[in-house]
Amino acid sequence: FQNVTQLKELEKIRTDFVATISHEFKTPLTSIMMGTDVLMEERMGRLNEDQRQFIEAIREDSNRLTKLVNDLLELMKIESAKAVFKFKKYPIKDIIQCSVKPFIQLVIQQGKTLYYDNKEENSYVLADFEKITWALNNLISNAIKYTDSGDEITITAKEEKNIVYVTVKDTGMGIPQEYHEKIFEKFVQVRDGDMEFRGTGLGLAVVREIIEAHNGRIWCESEPDIGSSFTFTLYTAEKEQDLE
Ligand code: ADP
Repeated sequence: FQNVTQLKELEKIRTDFVATISHEFKTPLTSIMMGTDVLMEERMGRLNEDQRQFIEAIREDSNRLTKLVNDLLELMKIESAKAVFKFKKYPIKDIIQCSVKPFIQLVIQQGKTLYYDNKEENSYVLADFEKITWALNNLISNAIKYTDSGDEITITAKEEKNIVYVTVKDTGMGIPQEYHEKIFEKFVQVRDGDMEFRGTGLGLAVVREIIEAHNGRIWCESEPDIGSSFTFTLYTAEKEQDLE
């Protein structure tokens, strides 16, 4: 079918294009960030308040752009036909511990609390370790991003009938009902005050693709000003099951 072939070619051009552009952004971004770091540390001389504010704004925008580039690259990787998932059995606690680790310092710095309540110490799941940790990382990162000092983030895992449910719950700003499904679409962000500027709107789209590639489901329950919880499912693997 002519149109299908053409569409596939066009799709390949599109993904190649985005991947190339994203890569090309990385080098200049790194030098912008290094430059602003040097200026912020006042190694080139003292800054007045106006100068500091400008440089901080540049630093913040470069951080955001870096996240956008990384999210886009991850999305392209997942969406391209080349995406390979290597499923093996892992204890769920290893996946959670590995995802939590990068945030321990940040959470303390921001005056928040991160609990990990693992009732299912011995649950084994079938997963691609790198990709599932990326997904869980993103959910935790959001929970931290959309909470204030004093808020709590709780991660739980429970097993029921061959399915492990992993939940990331926070006591943050919450999400209005009409967004509960939409936020999993690309570039959708809750438009409310300055919230839309905090991220890229891509993270949850990638997370959902990763979970669905595991034949799992993901959903959000949330109430504005009370908090949000994101739950995804994974299939269990028998302890004696060897997939290699
Ligand atoms: P990003 O966080 O980079 O904007 P995501 O796709 O990860 O993109 O999230 C989409 C939107 O969903 C966010 O912009 C935010 O409005 C909302 N959101 C996601 N997680 C939370 C959360 N834990 N609490 C409140 N809002 C959230």
